[in-house]
Amino acid sequence: MNLILMGLPGAGKGTQAEYIVDDFKVVHISTGDMFRQAMSAETEIGMKAKSFIDKGELVPDEVTSGIVKERLAQEDVKKSGYMLDGFPRTIAQAESLETITSELDQPIDGVIYIDVPADKLVDRLSGRFICKNCGATYHKIFNQPKVEGTCDVCGQHEFYQRDDDKPETVKNRLDVNIKMNTPLIDFYENKGLLYKIDGDKDIDDVYAEVQSVINGLK
Ligand code: ADP
Ligand code: AMP
Repeated sequence: MNLILMGLPGAGKGTQAEYIVDDFKVVHISTGDMFRQAMSAETEIGMKAKSFIDKGELVPDEVTSGIVKERLAQEDVKKSGYMLDGFPRTIAQAESLETITSELDQPIDGVIYIDVPADKLVDRLSGRFICKNCGATYHKIFNQPKVEGTCDVCGQHEFYQRDDDKPETVKNRLDVNIKMNTPLIDFYENKGLLYKIDGDKDIDDVYAEVQSVINGLK
């Protein structure tokens, strides 16, 4: 199974990805996570990406498509399939992905677009916090850990807020992504691959719809 999870920042891609991986065992590939790892390891790609990410801009297509190409070629993807999260974000990236997936003979089975009205996303992003140990994502109002201050997944107690979720960056991130969104939706709709899901519901209700789309693709 090869999937793309699409949606504006804060739509719930990472949250749904955790459930999808548990149930369908695909390899979760988040370009945002890859860049954050590269930044904390201070690699060349990390240093290059940082200046864009700090401003809420997109990292240039050739850098982003390059890391995806390398990742998709790895053995685990061949065995279990992929679920891309946060890629592609431009038509140029979508076109590179066509080439990469056809070279690897791993075509896209479906693109799940999680649809949330843009005016809800500022609250989602500004309340997001993440477990320092395992990366599980929470929200200070909409998705709190079951025991306050303790990660449901790994039981650890330290959390952080992403720098780019701070108010000064959030607005630009949303503007940049909204501009790119419609052409990308059209791109996959024209290929007959797009499944639009209402993401403006409780996490479990959104997942029920995601699950039924994926089951229909099998
Ligand atoms: P993305 O990966 O698309 O940027 P996340 O999955 O990190 O989005 O979700 C953004 C924030 O919104 C997180 O704090 C998350 O806990 C919260 N969230 C995710 N899905 C929902 C939902 N259906 N309703 C309310 N809040 C949600
Ligand atoms: P995310 O974790 O998906 O919200 O991504 C965080 C940041 O990483 C984005 O605001 C971009 O700066 C960068 N990024 C992630 N994915 C891409 C992509 N496909 N193209 C360009 N930049 C990206």
